[in-house]
Amino acid sequence: MRKRVLLIEDNPENFFLMQYLLEKGGFQVMGADNGWLGIEMALFNIPDIILLDIQLPGMDGYTVMRRLRSTPELAKIPIVAVTSYAMAGNRELALQNGANGYIEKPIDPDAFTGQIEAFLNSSNTEVPK
Ligand code: MN
Repeated sequence: MRKRVLLIEDNPENFFLMQYLLEKGGFQVMGADNGWLGIEMALFNIPDIILLDIQLPGMDGYTVMRRLRSTPELAKIPIVAVTSYAMAGNRELALQNGANGYIEKPIDPDAFTGQIEAFLNSSNTEVPK
């Protein structure tokens, strides 16, 4: 059974690169280019993991995380923040707002799907408060 990844990313280049790598790696990819659509899609077809951009139009990734975490059906899905923010503190902010992990852009195409596998296989499934 292929793992379902929900990719919430508004930049087409980043989206298609990640989609390509994930599909090549055997994942089933669902995509959304904004947080509202992403949450709707997650409710419609519960993913195994959510990859979430932080800089999104309208509702930023931190808000998306908080909404996912406060929705009972979605509260325990692993969330990995994927962001180009280079500023110090973004990792912490993502973790504080509910992300289980963090991948920095530009993503490393050779390592990317392995990183996602590692998050999926991680025994630490605790959801940060
Ligand atoms: Mn973005």
